[in-house]
Amino acid sequence: MSKIRVLPEALANKIAAGEVVERPASVVKELLENSLDAGALSLEIDVESGGRRLIRIQDDGEGMTPDDALLAFERHATSKLQRADDLMEIATLGFRGEALPSIASVSRLLLETRHESREAGTSVEINGSRLAGVKEIARSRGTTLTVRDLFFNVPARKKFLRSDSTELGHVVNFVTQYALAHPEGRFALRSAGSEVFNLQPVPVQRERVFQVFGGALLKQLVEVQSDVPVFYTAEDEAGEPGGHSDSIRVHGFVSKPEVHKLNRNSLYFFVNRRMVRDRIILHALNEAYRNILPAGIFPVVLLFVEMPLREVDVNVHPSKTEVRFRHQALLHDFLRDSVRKALMDARPQTPFPAARHAQSAMGDSPFDTSPNEELAFPGTAPRASSWAAAVPVSGEVALPERSFALIPPTPAPTNATLPFRSENALTISAGTSAGAAPSEILSASSSAVVAGVLPAHSLATSAGVPASGESAEPVLVAQSQFGIVPLGQIDNSFIVAADGGALLLIDQHVAHERILFEKVLRQRSEGKVESQRLLLPLIIEINPRQQVILENITPELAACGFEVEPFGRKTVAIKAAPAGLATTDVQQLLGELLEGLERETQAISLGRLREKIAASVACHAAIKINMHLEHPKMLWLIDELQRTQYPMSCPHGRPIVLRYEKNEILKAFKRI
Ligand code: ADP
Ligand code: MG
Repeated sequence: MSKIRVLPEALANKIAAGEVVERPASVVKELLENSLDAGALSLEIDVESGGRRLIRIQDDGEGMTPDDALLAFERHATSKLQRADDLMEIATLGFRGEALPSIASVSRLLLETRHESREAGTSVEINGSRLAGVKEIARSRGTTLTVRDLFFNVPARKKFLRSDSTELGHVVNFVTQYALAHPEGRFALRSAGSEVFNLQPVPVQRERVFQVFGGALLKQLVEVQSDVPVFYTAEDEAGEPGGHSDSIRVHGFVSKPEVHKLNRNSLYFFVNRRMVRDRIILHALNEAYRNILPAGIFPVVLLFVEMPLREVDVNVHPSKTEVRFRHQALLHDFLRDSVRKALMDARPQTPFPAARHAQSAMGDSPFDTSPNEELAFPGTAPRASSWAAAVPVSGEVALPERSFALIPPTPAPTNATLPFRSENALTISAGTSAGAAPSEILSASSSAVVAGVLPAHSLATSAGVPASGESAEPVLVAQSQFGIVPLGQIDNSFIVAADGGALLLIDQHVAHERILFEKVLRQRSEGKVESQRLLLPLIIEINPRQQVILENITPELAACGFEVEPFGRKTVAIKAAPAGLATTDVQQLLGELLEGLERETQAISLGRLREKIAASVACHAAIKINMHLEHPKMLWLIDELQRTQYPMSCPHGRPIVLRYEKNEILKAFKRI
């Protein structure tokens, strides 16, 4: 008697469902792809309870004949592939013939369809792989698929689903992505009967972007449009050139450097209109934005890459979101250069006279190079990489010297107590602790501050400032203990301040980040980390590599206030986290931390690990940009910042304070 048995089909389908159907949104994705493959131009999507209870997609595509309607649920039944060779050039979104049987095996499914060539339609009902009924029905051309009670027969899976709103968020995300890729289609999405969006067909992508994101974001986007020829030589196994288009094209939008996203959620990539997650593209973008965006900050990107079908292998993963490119390096460099060029072309041509920026007290920064090379965006490093040839980096650009954009020096962290005060301010200010040693200052300040919470009154009052609301006058002139007067905010993000002889611009987020970073590290070394128990454990999914990393760092995480335990095969439960972090931040933080460590090629020291954890905690607990700060809070922030060891740069190396000396201002006004 043989030990090996062929799995019954229903079981095989359930196993396949494990890969294809991760959550309601993956069902939506597969069904949308089927509808688009069927040539649908009108897609209506209804969900209830984030898709757990109900997902219904109605399309006006070609529909199915009665035979096909039944065949569609057989494993590996597809109308999209005929010969093995077809696998080399897949033009449809689907091709594996797995989606429908997989979904049917883990839900109660109803298919209603009518093929354009038939008078009557068909309905097929299936409950967890079991055929429950086939009927002839009357209906319009097209297909309606209704999926109820997803995972009703897979309790383990069901448990891992997140809240309805989280699941709905994923659904919205997928529908949005396909809507972006298909401006010619109508996409209506409703949740529990109320409309999430209803996008009418539009002739150009730009208008779809407007429909989805609105005009404000569109203004911040730069259009990308270029192509590169690919030549097939005689030796090439794929053979003759010609036939179809022999070029790779990219079009879409990328955001200007001012747009800062804290996560990757606004990166959309499509290859031949298939939504993909791809490391090559991500890396190319990263390169394009290098030194334009700080590390850990992401742009908004919508890139549509069109290439000959044979250039890309889409049969890499059951969910079909991963692809393999035949000419990876070519594509990578092409995308990097295209995006970079679009960004360069769109950079501001400031009409202001140049004001030379004073060298910072930090000394030479690696990014402080000759003026001509710094024309682009603040912090842009000169890079003699391949894009230099395509982009007029110097000479051809009309900007005189440096712009009034006042390019910040990128300071290396330097141990200094009060480097952003001018020399003379030192003598004027009579701040109580100005003369104290840094260590004393640190310990004096540490007791009163709670991570993530900006006290509105207590600290400001202790600095001799009346709490806000008591009287407007004194608040306006109140200065920090170190003689710095906050004047207000720009865009609710940057504090404008003055001290005796200079204008200061302070990035409120990174300032707070620096304060918290040092505080977390200090608490860690004193073994006094404040931890909070989460109401409900947070479950996050991790890959095997991350699992290994996590095991290694669990003791250190514990010492930093995290309680993380394995939970199931691919998931961990976070039960406690450092105080001051919002629950949503905790999840993101740990994900980012693991991703970051995954990218490390060499083992890192314990000290470095501690710093990484502290930097992540600080980044997530810090006040964000786009947040209004009352005067006492600004004052508090400035005071606390001054008490840090490295007040000039954040843990990731970004500048915190830009300082403009009176001399520079006088020069800019041509007074000297
Ligand atoms: P695949 O998309 O990989 O071919 P699926 O299991 O998703 O596999 O679908 C099986 C087949 O059912 C498809 O090849 C297609 O012929 C048919 N089909 C599925 N959905 C639709 C639809 N909305 N309209 C028309 N035909 C459909
Ligand atoms: Mg399909």
